[in-house]
Amino acid sequence: MDYQSFFEERISALKREGRYRVFADLERHAGGFPRATCHMGAEERAITVWCSNDYLGMGQHPDVLAAMHETLDRCGAGAGGTRNISGTNHYHVLLERELAAWHQREAALLFGSGWVANMTALSTLCHLLPDCLVLSDAKNHNSMIEGIVHSKAEKQVFRHNDVVHLDSLLSASDPARPKLVAFESVYSMDGDIAPIGEICDVADRHGAMTFLDEVHAVGLYGPRGAGVAERDGVMDRLTVIQGTLAKAVGVVGGYIAGSAALIDVVRSFGTGFIFSTAMPPAVAAGALASVRHLQSNNELRERHQERAATLKYRLGNAGLPVMPSPSHIVPVLVGDPLLCKRASDELLTNHGVYVQPINYPTVERGTERLRLTPSPLHTDRHMDHLVASLQEVWMRLGLKAAA
Ligand SMILES: *Cc1c(COP(=O)(O)O)cnc(C)c1O
Repeated sequence: MDYQSFFEERISALKREGRYRVFADLERHAGGFPRATCHMGAEERAITVWCSNDYLGMGQHPDVLAAMHETLDRCGAGAGGTRNISGTNHYHVLLERELAAWHQREAALLFGSGWVANMTALSTLCHLLPDCLVLSDAKNHNSMIEGIVHSKAEKQVFRHNDVVHLDSLLSASDPARPKLVAFESVYSMDGDIAPIGEICDVADRHGAMTFLDEVHAVGLYGPRGAGVAERDGVMDRLTVIQGTLAKAVGVVGGYIAGSAALIDVVRSFGTGFIFSTAMPPAVAAGALASVRHLQSNNELRERHQERAATLKYRLGNAGLPVMPSPSHIVPVLVGDPLLCKRASDELLTNHGVYVQPINYPTVERGTERLRLTPSPLHTDRHMDHLVASLQEVWMRLGLKAAA
């Protein structure tokens, strides 16, 4: 077989569809977010980032940087091993304790990323439980889907956020069988929010466990920032809460929180935990400082919600097709992959506005969009420039206005 032409053809097909991904070569500036430098060949250009998942700018917070500097100098660069073999540092222990307390759980467990946390926890739990049936929301993130597939447990997909459909699938299943309902709180591409309490009601009625991905909500919702489950007063009802330290927390890493026995099982049987080196101590210390700061700083969350509401209002006023969402995520519909990519390119090169195109398979075909994530650090002036730039690009490319 001609391997090279096979690989080249696969890439050409992606390009024809407008789905080929090109990375923006960015240099973030601590203290300057959301401003950054974009390297374009030999050129450099100052830009404003409008699609970061560092939702609150915690990636440059002085407390976080100070904790990381201090720990780096004291403990050195790497953890030195897996958690089992010399890699457990005191900062991992402190961070797990803090995360467990944040979600009011007995225990928590760290992973290299949120992706690995979902993959490992779901594959381990659903594999160990005999004849487990997994009920998975239709819009679940890839990391959950991979974890469920890898567990080899039977999976049934319920319609997105559809409690009635979930109930009917559970009603048709053997009551004696172990079951797990896997879902998210804030869905990252549409920005819609799950009815967590109602899903817990249905799960409880059928004796099912619940596994909630709060990746796009931790730090952002609830009086202490512990997520939508905290905001809704239902945090104690979930079996497992999964989160990331890479988005609103601003660093990197993932975790689960749950009962001591459940966490001990994943710690003892989860291969994605056992066989992978622990995160650097300085990373754990930075995440710890961030989580501590987030718990007591509700003003940051209020400002974040205000910025999102203001941006939605201003885009709507400008006739841009902003998609309605009850969260901090602000999607603007383009509805065509090639035009979506072109709009993104023109925004970057002509206007210094960086927003990545979101195409299939991340979203359904025909719903290609620009996904804006305003932070507390995006000013009115940044918004003036964004709205004017979008209007110009919409006109030039003849994109659809708001309905
Ligand atoms: C980003 C994301 C993850 C993975 O988290 P990382 O820490 O980036 O690996 C998991 N679930 C959802 C819904 C996500 O959007």
